[in-house]
Amino acid sequence: MASKQSQKRKRSNNQNNSGMRLLIFITIGLIGLAALLVALNAMKDNREANNPDRFAELPKLEGQPVLGNSDAPVTLIEFGDYMCPTCMVWDETIYPQLYDDYVSTGDVQFAFVNVLFHGEQSQLISLASESVFAQAPEHFWEYHDALFDAQAQHGHAGEWVTVDLLLALAEEHVPGIDLAQLEEDIVNQTAMPELVTDMNLVNEYDVRMTPTVMINGIVPKNPMDYAEIKRIIDRELEAESQ
Ligand code: CA
Repeated sequence: MASKQSQKRKRSNNQNNSGMRLLIFITIGLIGLAALLVALNAMKDNREANNPDRFAELPKLEGQPVLGNSDAPVTLIEFGDYMCPTCMVWDETIYPQLYDDYVSTGDVQFAFVNVLFHGEQSQLISLASESVFAQAPEHFWEYHDALFDAQAQHGHAGEWVTVDLLLALAEEHVPGIDLAQLEEDIVNQTAMPELVTDMNLVNEYDVRMTPTVMINGIVPKNPMDYAEIKRIIDRELEAESQ
């Protein structure tokens, strides 16, 4: 009898548990759906009504490394990850052409926003990059290129991303850097607020792949197609000059 009662209790507990699990499952689902709707709505609001391919409001670039003429009529933002192999190829093949054709002429300003799709290594390397930018902004781009060169040399698997190597690259490419300060900044994650800002931009602008390139709010479908990038820039420059 006692055992039957206990079995009944068990069954009833099990039913309660599965009911609770279902409720939790539905609640999590609803919260997720609500978050998705809010995100979609925010994105829709930020697309131009007559041109859904263009974000009306550009990402705010305060506190971001920006190269070139700050009054340039065109702004190109790369959302990139130092651990992403395609970003490395972009940096070594597309970026030099972009620099020669448009950044050096003052037509385009170029900004880089960190994406952390490769987890811990992306975070460590981005913390170093942001800390170098904070300490020696005038040498930031040399360090930025050196980080991609290091990936080209060591591969994107990531074991090579160590504090020692990040410091050695700074010593080599950032004249006058205070290495002890840099080490402290990397270890203490001093630049974490900057990474949070970058991650918020990644979410806000629905960046799903790296690199993602944005030209005056327009995202070309294939960031590796320099002809397409050129077409968009030229169109923007022409519109600007009219
Ligand atoms: Ca940043």
